[in-house]
Amino acid sequence: MQNLRFDNLFVNSLPADPEAGPRLRQVHGALYSRVNPTPVAAPRLLAHAHEVAALLGIAEADVAAPEFAQVFGGNALLQGMQPFAANYGGHQFGRWAGQLGDGRAISLGEVVTATGARWELQLKGAGLTPYSRRADGRAVLRSSIREFLCSEAMHHLGVPTTRALCLVATGEQVVRDMFYDGHPKLEPGAIVCRVAPSFIRFGNFELPASRGEVDLLKQLVDFTIRRDFPELILDVSQAVSEAARSEWFAQVCVRTARMVAHWMRVGFVHGVMNTDNLSILGLTIDYGPYGWIDNFDLDWTPNTTDAAGRRYRYGQQAEVAYWNLTRLASALASVFASTEPLHAGLRQFGEVFDAAERDNIAAKLGLAECHDQDVERMEALYALLQSAEVDMTLFFRGLSQVDIEAPTLAPLAEAFYDEAKLQQAEPAFLAWLTDYAARVRHDQLSPAQRRAKMNAANPRYVLRNYLAQQAIDRAGQGDDTGIHELLEVLRRPYEDQAGREQFSQRRPDWARNRAGCSMLSCSS
Ligand code: AMP
Ligand code: MG
Repeated sequence: MQNLRFDNLFVNSLPADPEAGPRLRQVHGALYSRVNPTPVAAPRLLAHAHEVAALLGIAEADVAAPEFAQVFGGNALLQGMQPFAANYGGHQFGRWAGQLGDGRAISLGEVVTATGARWELQLKGAGLTPYSRRADGRAVLRSSIREFLCSEAMHHLGVPTTRALCLVATGEQVVRDMFYDGHPKLEPGAIVCRVAPSFIRFGNFELPASRGEVDLLKQLVDFTIRRDFPELILDVSQAVSEAARSEWFAQVCVRTARMVAHWMRVGFVHGVMNTDNLSILGLTIDYGPYGWIDNFDLDWTPNTTDAAGRRYRYGQQAEVAYWNLTRLASALASVFASTEPLHAGLRQFGEVFDAAERDNIAAKLGLAECHDQDVERMEALYALLQSAEVDMTLFFRGLSQVDIEAPTLAPLAEAFYDEAKLQQAEPAFLAWLTDYAARVRHDQLSPAQRRAKMNAANPRYVLRNYLAQQAIDRAGQGDDTGIHELLEVLRRPYEDQAGREQFSQRRPDWARNRAGCSMLSCSS
């Protein structure tokens, strides 16, 4: 790995905290603190994504060498790495929370590859930083497996996301009270190496804005535009213009809208859409108590911490993303001469999200394009799916198999969780299918085109919560193969994979109310 070339623009361009090391503190006037990972007892590589290694130019032989687990367990640094924790704030559950920062994430540096691509490497669970507040800077194996697998699953589903290079067991234990109910336990620790062009979040801008540090904010804005949105800069020798900043904010709105539309398409619920967990690049970031829709339910949230208010429920993700963008807009107001570009960007969010949702409808239903009546058709279907307890993934996958000349529920039967509800809802579903079949018969797509379009938008395999939990349970017993099997299946989520049927089953009854399968806390 000595061939990796680092060019650490973030730390070398932006103001640092004058103090290094993990002493807890409020950090003013600086965007990050220098801090090294804390070494761990016995780092052991549990899994890696060869695609991500290849992106970075890391050879498989390097992955297999002992040095790899040392570096990505936080015990050794490569030449050129300059570790730091970023300083940011955030709105958590609708309230301003002040300084948060990377409490357990430590960025190692920015790799520049042979093709000129820039990838920041970041360890999650690498030990204490100035931002660890009252916590330990570590991460447990269960949440690290979930982050590792979901990062890659999302990528293969075509959803913008941070990536994951590897998962390393630390050989140390950490204490967690999983449901915050006074039952702390020792659990195995782990570290994920996340990879993204940038880990800058909305909260990185909110913190200096909240403190009136306008110069610092301006530096961060212009840095972000130059490094992460270079296509908006016409002349690198010139100062960043108001026009470029305006276009940048609009781009953030557009990318966020597209990201959430993808989540809606595949049935992903982020679970903690605080502004510190929204990426300025519109990447899905911070896989915590996220979940996947089994039985279709717009009101479902996987996060037990959010059970009362359901702020981050599946059906509200677009509204929350928009609200978060309004927080970002107000944080940015002081670097704009007028607020008009911020309002214009926010308007684009709605336009782009609505258009993406219409594309989702056309793709999920296999139509050449989405007409207004198709929006109503889809809403009617969602209402049916929700009331009859129907598996989202299985239903849409099965829908492409329905015989349009003589529609029946047979290809969809496996999607129903409750036999009684199926019988009760059968006439309503048949009526819907009959109307749908008539619509499809008049559509310009051929049957083969329709099926191909549907199967490219409706995955066969998603990281169902219970599947992740099974891999976690096995890993807890020292068997890592469940992680590898899932990663392999999730590489081709839109293909029917012979012999892998057990990964596309609806959630079994035992998993309905089990911790980790239907509900998760923020404890990680
Ligand atoms: P999250 O909800 O995971 O996005 O975390 C919110 C904030 O808490 C972030 O500033 C995290 O860095 C911090 N945090 C979460 N878990 C830990 C931990 N075990 N040690 C230190 N900081 C943590
Ligand atoms: Mg976070």
